[in-house]
Amino acid sequence: NLLYGRVISVHGLKCRVLDDQGNAFECAIRQVLKSMSIDGRTAVVAGDRVRFRAESSIDGMIEQVEPRHGIISRTSRGQQHILVANVDYLLIIASAASPEIKPVLIDRFLLTAAQCNVQPILVVNKVDLIEPVLLQQLIGVYASLGTRVLMTSAETGVGVDYLRHLLAGKQTVLAGQSGVGKSSLLNEVQPGLGLAVGRVSDDNDKGRHTTTASRLIPLDAGGAVFDTPGIRQFKLWDISASEVAGLMPDLRPYVSACRYPDCLHLSEDDCAVKNAVADGRVDARRYDAYCHLLENDLLLDSI
Ligand code: GDP
Ligand code: ZN
Repeated sequence: NLLYGRVISVHGLKCRVLDDQGNAFECAIRQVLKSMSIDGRTAVVAGDRVRFRAESSIDGMIEQVEPRHGIISRTSRGQQHILVANVDYLLIIASAASPEIKPVLIDRFLLTAAQCNVQPILVVNKVDLIEPVLLQQLIGVYASLGTRVLMTSAETGVGVDYLRHLLAGKQTVLAGQSGVGKSSLLNEVQPGLGLAVGRVSDDNDKGRHTTTASRLIPLDAGGAVFDTPGIRQFKLWDISASEVAGLMPDLRPYVSACRYPDCLHLSEDDCAVKNAVADGRVDARRYDAYCHLLENDLLLDSI
């Protein structure tokens, strides 16, 4: 008589679990599961599909964790911490204006998605604020990489039905800086949700200084959206500088032909990536994006 459920959050030794009817349970974790985990913290993680024994109408015990896919994790001090499991989509939300679109943020999130093996979807929100034609070039670049790109407006409702359709039955993690309209869009995707909508901060890079707790939003059409501050913010975790090009689909074909196996494709001799840029096989804007990522995120961080 085990029930199936989905772990919404883990706090200390307890997990909040939703059964398939949407009832919430506070569950403990069976000792044997804890002993199987490497660091004592990833026995059960948010997003896990579990089987649990209901001990009352509100308490339970997790007995089993189903195999995971789509893991978004972070390594700190040599240990892997899984933030969310069973992620189908990384929904990267940008805004066409206010705050202005920042390709470097999109690139960072795309790398994270590639590294975690999670399918990215790029949403450009607030298209009501600009002429859509202004976005064509940017969207063309991402679309040519095989990234699914959607244009939306939480204001006019453009693209919202399609987004709702995409998210149905899937587990999605939200990414995107503050103020791009993540809450507004979710409120449109799921009428009645009533998430608080904030203001666009003057300081676009930092966004609002509020840290909100992780939340999981179960969708009426099945599936759920995870909104986790640690993911929402734009950090590149665990990616070493020499891995970046291999995670970019348009640069990847060339990296193995470079003279040096640890080539960073910056100023090395006989660099196949730079050669491909020089003769137009790789879009120079994408190479610029690569250099930007490396210089701004990774090389500086590692000093
Ligand atoms: P979040 O921080 O990413 O969750 O962004 P919010 O949903 O809190 O929205 C930030 C601000 O942008 C609010 O003032 C919203 O009303 C506004 N906003 C959100 N979506 C749109 C949109 O599609 N068009 C316009 N014009 N404004 C929007
Ligand atoms: Zn190279």
